Amino acid sequence: MNLYKIPFNKPCLAGNEIRYMLQAMEAGPISGDGPFTKDCHTLLEQSLGVFKALLTTSCTHALEMAALLLEVQPGDEVIVPSFTFVSTINAFVLRGARPVFADIRTDTLNLDETAIEALITRHTRAIVPVHYAGVGCEMDSIVDIAGRHRVAIVEDNAHGLFGKYRGQYLGTFGTFATQSFHETKNFTCGEGGALLINDPEYVERAEIIREKGTNRSRFFRGHVDKYTWVDLGSSYLPSDILAAFLYAQLEAREQIQHKRHKIWQYYYDNLKDWAIEHDVRLPHVPEYCEQTYHMFYLLMPGLEQRQSLIAHLRACGILSVFHYLPLHLSHMGRQFGGKAGDCPVTENMSDRLLRLPFYNDLTVDDQTYIVEAICQFRGKI
Ligand SMILES: *Cc1c(COP(=O)(O)O)cnc(C)c1O
Repeated sequence: MNLYKIPFNKPCLAGNEIRYMLQAMEAGPISGDGPFTKDCHTLLEQSLGVFKALLTTSCTHALEMAALLLEVQPGDEVIVPSFTFVSTINAFVLRGARPVFADIRTDTLNLDETAIEALITRHTRAIVPVHYAGVGCEMDSIVDIAGRHRVAIVEDNAHGLFGKYRGQYLGTFGTFATQSFHETKNFTCGEGGALLINDPEYVERAEIIREKGTNRSRFFRGHVDKYTWVDLGSSYLPSDILAAFLYAQLEAREQIQHKRHKIWQYYYDNLKDWAIEHDVRLPHVPEYCEQTYHMFYLLMPGLEQRQSLIAHLRACGILSVFHYLPLHLSHMGRQFGGKAGDCPVTENMSDRLLRLPFYNDLTVDDQTYIVEAICQFRGKI
């Protein structure tokens, strides 16, 4: 039973999920790379204009594939915002890389592009920008810096599918980009992800790594007469049943994004006066970024006010959550030398950020109730 009248997240069906899953089961092969997987690949490639899209079992696994493809080795360094999910960097640490934590911008909470260059050394192999809340990072600068230093870009685009930066789709700037279809993301199949490949040179090896280190994809296309172990690899293909579920969601992308836009705008319009009055900041979206309406957050004046608003909303039956404990201060981060004060903006924002309930089927009635509860908050603001 849900203890909350309004949960933080709820998986929502777009309409055709069950029909497509049945279709997948009736048609036969339900392992990876079946017809629905191919449909998802084509949809992602054509709608974004990426060279190749490959579904994976998670965004975490897509990041692991990127690290394998870049041949990240012990001694290499990878630049990553401290304000992100663990997988963004863990995938590279698994290959022996050392995380180099960068701070974030105060406005969008994205990787601070002006902090990157000072962190580059001769060991730097990759920069991993995260398009936080589906608002694009400053890709003009990041692409320029990466190009000058011959460092790869891997976009962690878990929040940013179908978002744009200066008219260009997020996920098309890096050598690779990774997507998540976890149930908390805009489009979901429960657990799932995708690797987007913008450099054709990596496609064949990506297919091999994804197929347990075998050339099975080439075998299925009739390019070789038997398949065998040719490289490193693992099992990164989702079942076609999950791809069927996902295809129903991706196909409904316009309706889903329309719903999320309305939810985001309702929060924004109905909280902006309250926010000004109480010294609370709402999300900032530069005019050249088309965001994805992945989340709605409040930046409270401080930790105490944030914690008491979470408690107040909980008492009203509303689950709100904080986001991202700084990675450089985590148990693992400290083992790589992270210490308080390294990323002051991250540390500050992490104390103040509060995410409001956000899912496709959140009703206006529920949102009205949430906004009223916030406006009644008499905590230490
Ligand atoms: C959700 C998320 C991930 C991990 O996605 P999974 O599909 O659960 O592996 C990685 N990075 C960011 C920024 C995320 O929000």
